[in-house]
Amino acid sequence: MEVAKKAKPGQQLSPHFTEGELACRCCGRLLIQGELVSRLEILHLPVGKPVLVNSATAAPPPMSADL
Ligand SMILES: [Zn+2]
Repeated sequence: MEVAKKAKPGQQLSPHFTEGELACRCCGRLLIQGELVSRLEILHLPVGKPVLVNSATAAPPPMSADL
């Protein structure tokens, strides 16, 4: 399952992660892969403390008029 949409920052995506945490930092685009969220939750369990997600979605670079 893969769904792309605009993230709602405070919207809970799974018990430990919000849409804002997993969205692209530049444009807020969120590409949800069901398996990724499940894996993050599994990863979270043994750690027992917040898992910081650096980047889960990378949008394509903006089109440049200079090219
Ligand atoms: Zn972006």
